[in-house]
Amino acid sequence: MVNKSTHVIYPGTFDPITNGHIDIINRGLKLFDRVTIAVSTGFNKNTLFTLAQRVTLAQEIFKDNPSVDVLAFDGLLADFFMKIKADAVIRGLRAVSDFEYEFQMSAINHKLNPDIETIFLTPDEEYTCLSSTMIRQVAKIDPNRVSSFVPENVLKALHQVLR
Ligand code: ADP
Repeated sequence: MVNKSTHVIYPGTFDPITNGHIDIINRGLKLFDRVTIAVSTGFNKNTLFTLAQRVTLAQEIFKDNPSVDVLAFDGLLADFFMKIKADAVIRGLRAVSDFEYEFQMSAINHKLNPDIETIFLTPDEEYTCLSSTMIRQVAKIDPNRVSSFVPENVLKALHQVLR
C-alpha cells in the first residue's frame, strides 16, 4: 500500500472506454487517492470517436466519483505528467503480448522525464481479451454483441456512430 497522498495518470486513447479500462481505474482507486484519465488525441490514429466524445464518455461514467478526473491531452505524456503534477502513471497489462510495447513506453517516458514511474495493473480475468479495437470491430458488425463489455452510455454511442 502506498502511504502518501497520490495522484496517478491513466493515459490512453479510450476509443472507446471499455469495462477493462474501468476495471483498471477502479483498481487504481484502491491504491491511490486520485486517478486522472488522460485521453490522448490519438496522434495519427483514425479514431472512431472524436476526442470530445471519448472524453465525454469517460466523464459520464465517473461523474459521481470526485476522485476521478478526465482530461484530454496532446503531445508527450512526459510533459503532460509534469503539467498536472502526477506522481505516477498506471497502465493495464492484459497478456504477455502487451508487455513489450508497455515496457518500451515506460522506458522512453522515464528517459524523457526521470520523475515518471509506470505502475502496471492487471485486470480481472474476464477482461483480458478486451480491447477497444476488438470492441470497434465487433460493434461495426453488430453493436448489440458488445453489450456486456462496455457501459451503457458507450453502447448507446456505438449505436449512434455506427448507424
Ligand atoms: P492503446 O494504448 O493500445 O491505444 P488504450 O489506449 O485503449 O490502448 O488503453 C490504455 C491502457 O489501458 C493500456 O495500458 C492498455 O494496455 C490498457 N487496457 C486496455 N484494455 C484493457 C483491458 N481490457 N484490461 C486491462 N488493461 C487494458
